[in-house]
Amino acid sequence: MIDIDRLTAEIDTLAGFSSHPSPAVTRVLFSREDCDARDWMARMFVEAGLVVRSDAVGNCFARWQGRDTTRAPFATGSHIDAIPNAGKYDGVIGVLGAVEAVRMLRAKGFQPERSLDIILFTAEEPTRFGIGCLGSRLLGGALDSAAAAALEDVDKNTLETLRAQAGFSGLLSEVSLRHGAYTGFVELHIEQGPLLERDGIDIGAVEKIAAPAAFRITITGEGGHAGAVLMPDRHDAGLAAAEIALAVERAALETASADTVGTTGVFLIEPGAINSVPCRAVIEIDLRDTDLATRLRAENAIHQAAYAVADRRGVSLEWETINSDPPAICAPELVASIESAAKARGFSSRRMISRAYHDSLFMARVCPTAMIFVPCRNGWSHRPDEYVSPEALARGVAVLADVIEAQLGV
Ligand SMILES: [Zn+2]
Repeated sequence: MIDIDRLTAEIDTLAGFSSHPSPAVTRVLFSREDCDARDWMARMFVEAGLVVRSDAVGNCFARWQGRDTTRAPFATGSHIDAIPNAGKYDGVIGVLGAVEAVRMLRAKGFQPERSLDIILFTAEEPTRFGIGCLGSRLLGGALDSAAAAALEDVDKNTLETLRAQAGFSGLLSEVSLRHGAYTGFVELHIEQGPLLERDGIDIGAVEKIAAPAAFRITITGEGGHAGAVLMPDRHDAGLAAAEIALAVERAALETASADTVGTTGVFLIEPGAINSVPCRAVIEIDLRDTDLATRLRAENAIHQAAYAVADRRGVSLEWETINSDPPAICAPELVASIESAAKARGFSSRRMISRAYHDSLFMARVCPTAMIFVPCRNGWSHRPDEYVSPEALARGVAVLADVIEAQLGV
């Protein structure tokens, strides 16, 4: 039996490690609150009979030892960092829920053949270093260790310094997992969207994880007095940026796939005065899809449109790729295992796409991966009123426990 009262109490306790008052949760990588929360988690893991170790970037692995240590382990887990003014469920249920799943399996006398690692990933959120999935990115070999070490926060502290202060030593180059280090990975997570709740579905079996590409475009035109420079003589950087932003929308709409989304979420113009023609503009674009080829086509269309606009308006343009991660296809056998676990327990389930990215995106590079989604109220996430009902949470943990049991028994 899942002890849902214990689990919800633990979620509340973990939410207390926050630099903003309740109900908001703010837990930024290697802040005092993050370090205290990690210490508390380590004690939890030990109390649950798990053996804990950490790697050089602070990814924490809590192992439930199986009978046969020669076999590769299975893994589950998620993150416990939280963006400013977030809620208490995002990421957290994938870690505390996994501990509860282990306790439940233990209580019913299940003895694992294969070992299980519950992984607490370092910094899924990009708050501190501007890059998401820092820990899993390194595990998946998707980030060069020297580039990682040199990452800087807004106060110019490097990852190298901060991880040492937090007590994590060792070589970042040794964080990456070899292919097949795990037989598989399953992450329990809140949906962060409205679909499951809206349609009254208990469990989402994630079959694809969309991945973002992000670009920064810097446009340099010619400034001048808003009264004095006549329209035919202008090289307005702001208008060029505006046209490119519209091209982003057009490119995303024209792929014929509903999964392509393009957003120009940063739009800065200089000098930013009402009586001055913008001389410089910086825009940042987030482009996502579950299909890499479709996303690349959209990116190409934006690229061409941007240079055509620059040409026509006589401004110069600098295109910078901030990141470009391939989407992931989940392992069909794990997706099927989630579905059959849900069915056996009488829960409704649906295959779905994760439109947000998760640590699973990078674990999929080293082993078969899938995700279990549970509904959250109104699809709200990354805000203090994020809420998952105890019943929805218990269903997610039960399915996770069933999937783990099936994987550890063989
Ligand atoms: Zn998350």
